[in-house]
Amino acid sequence: MPKPILPPELTAELSPATLLVRGGTERSAYEETSEALYMTSGFVYGTAAEAEAAFKADGSRYVYSRYRNPTVTMFEERLRLIEGAEACRATASGMAAVFAALMCKVRAGQRVVASKALFGSCHYIVSELLPRYGVETVQVDGRDLGAWEAALAPGAAVAFCESPSNPAMEIIDLTEVARLTHRAGGILVVDNVFATPLLQKPMALGADVVVYSATKHIDGQGRALGGAILASEQFVKDDLGLFYRHTGPSMSPFNAWLLLKGMETLELRVERQCRTATAIANALEKHPKVSRVVYPGLPSHPQYELAKRQMKAGGTVVAFDIGGDKEACFRFLDALQLVDISNNLGDSKSLVTHPATTTHSKLKPEERAALGISDGLVRLSAGLEGEADLIRDLESALRKV
Ligand SMILES: *Cc1c(COP(=O)(O)O)cnc(C)c1O
Repeated sequence: MPKPILPPELTAELSPATLLVRGGTERSAYEETSEALYMTSGFVYGTAAEAEAAFKADGSRYVYSRYRNPTVTMFEERLRLIEGAEACRATASGMAAVFAALMCKVRAGQRVVASKALFGSCHYIVSELLPRYGVETVQVDGRDLGAWEAALAPGAAVAFCESPSNPAMEIIDLTEVARLTHRAGGILVVDNVFATPLLQKPMALGADVVVYSATKHIDGQGRALGGAILASEQFVKDDLGLFYRHTGPSMSPFNAWLLLKGMETLELRVERQCRTATAIANALEKHPKVSRVVYPGLPSHPQYELAKRQMKAGGTVVAFDIGGDKEACFRFLDALQLVDISNNLGDSKSLVTHPATTTHSKLKPEERAALGISDGLVRLSAGLEGEADLIRDLESALRKV
């Protein structure tokens, strides 16, 4: 049987840097250095009785890769240790994680309260999909605690939000929203993609479930989709376990292997990207052609104090407004020579998005306006290139506006 390379009694005192390299790794009998890739859908049994026992047991024996797979287990265990959660289930994408985390919990007739500022696909699940199954959903301004309180009070089963939000970088007071949710008898699910597991610990602030798109910083190199749900053992036992096993949102072992490699460099990349994002935000804030910069690490962010309290750094994404109309904004985007136009984020390559015409184009104009998504708003995900090169590229493109 594979064996863990970290003695469990040691893990509690290890730093994230160590856990990201060694956490969860189990070596096979071959004593390989790098994590083994168990590219198998099934597993075999020596005898019929062994198969019978495997199906009766608690799930510790590998049976079928839709349920569990050794490479996927290593990924889950590493992320679980970084998050400080009791349990983790890996999924094929971030959206599979969001959908499973919500759908395994809510029943027809129950209420879900979510912030309005959500990733586009999350918005679809909350506003279109859940209501089809008789789930009442209410969306509130995530910054308004009074609105959360009023919407949660009738007895919400689930509260759902992301902080910082995409793309307007709104910060939600997770401690307070968790408190209000628990008072209403519900659980708080937080999409922690923008903050990464290194900058913000929603569970330490009171959240019950944390979801990730591992596609973003965890891979961080534009190669693979993935996601994860982190929660208590109780949540996995009572709500998620059977849903996951029987609906099949599982992560491919190959992607789990890539994402394990991604995690080894996660801290290095996120630290560097935060530093670069801060430098870019500072440079843009002084630029005459930029009317507004929204970055949680800048004192000019309207919720700077809250961001500082719940995040270790401002994050890797900067939003800014170049003031003009769509055409002016497109001239800027098209003039960039290094930074790529793309809707992804958290990548080693710096990427820009025009949310109004891409990720948030399905929203009504008044919904976009309420979320601060103007035609001049640009979202920039800082990559790993040289900071000065990126700033030069942005300044040169701004001259075209
Ligand atoms: C990308 C993203 C998702 C969805 O993740 P996929 O891996 O693309 O399915 C969910 N939430 C946020 C905040 C994201 O940025």
